[in-house]
Amino acid sequence: MNKQADSQDEKTELFMGLFAGLKNVYGSYDIKTGKAYQVKAMVDKKTIISHLWGSQPYGVYLLVGDKIRAIAVDFDTNDLIPVVRFTAKSGQLGIPVYIERSKSKGYHIWIFFEHPVAASKARAVVHYILNKIGYSATEVFPKRDRLDEKVSYGNFINTPLFCLSAKHQRTVFVDPENNYLPFEDQWQLLYNIEKSSEDRLDCLIKKLNLITSAHVNSTRTQSRNRHENYSLPPCKQKMLDQGVTQYQRLSCFRIAICLRRTGVSFDSAISMLKAWATRNRPQNGKRIITEKEIIAQTRSAYTGRYRSVGCECPSVIPFCDPNCPIRNTR
Ligand code: SF4
Repeated sequence: MNKQADSQDEKTELFMGLFAGLKNVYGSYDIKTGKAYQVKAMVDKKTIISHLWGSQPYGVYLLVGDKIRAIAVDFDTNDLIPVVRFTAKSGQLGIPVYIERSKSKGYHIWIFFEHPVAASKARAVVHYILNKIGYSATEVFPKRDRLDEKVSYGNFINTPLFCLSAKHQRTVFVDPENNYLPFEDQWQLLYNIEKSSEDRLDCLIKKLNLITSAHVNSTRTQSRNRHENYSLPPCKQKMLDQGVTQYQRLSCFRIAICLRRTGVSFDSAISMLKAWATRNRPQNGKRIITEKEIIAQTRSAYTGRYRSVGCECPSVIPFCDPNCPIRNTR
């Protein structure tokens, strides 16, 4: 028989254990305007009670040092296709996932861990799945592998079951085996969450030949060719997420090379780059790159024998991330 969490205290403890992160800060948003803000205060039972049964949403900063207890993928679209594909691929890899309908649009997919695991490993596996299903530009929380002296908190993600939204069947977990309708008993689901382990991640990283930043740091002298199958380099992820203001054709070509290297199919790359083009803001009266140009650049990237990630390219330099593991091996 499935276990249940009955009392408010038990439910609060359960929730705190699953959505654990930094203890000295959390995120929230104004329920009228939706404007996000940060709260520099302890995350305690009152914070969680206020989220679950009150009126202040709780957003968790998942990254603690370089460890996490959960990782989340934010599909910012009501289209279920990426959710279905992500769930199927995770299932093939033996990673249990849980789908939450988010507060206004789209879905969050959550993966939970028995013990804190290296964020770099979890992120590498999640990015591998996203690349494989052709949605590599999707946001993943945490957005980085570790906190450091420059980044104290990272980014927060809103947690599920916020009282006011849950009443309207938002921020609730949905059942892929029942037309993605909300589970009738959300607490029973949470109590019986199947968690993944660091061993499972290690096993997948080895089997899939993935490279994490931790791995790169310990093998700096090894060949750069071993970056095959690595998730998109931070510069290309930023270019895809933010769009560019100049060198659109060159940017398209550079992103396409990296998409090819991460296993994204030609057709998926075209779809992603067409969406990317809508985010471009060309300067000096220039027009947005056309579909024909995207196809030409992508074809060139996919048919040539290009391997370089293009660190020296003028289209890429403004997006370079000082924490990039590739940069540290140059
Ligand atoms: S070192 Fe900079 S430019 Fe090169 S791949 Fe990394 S983020 Fe991109």
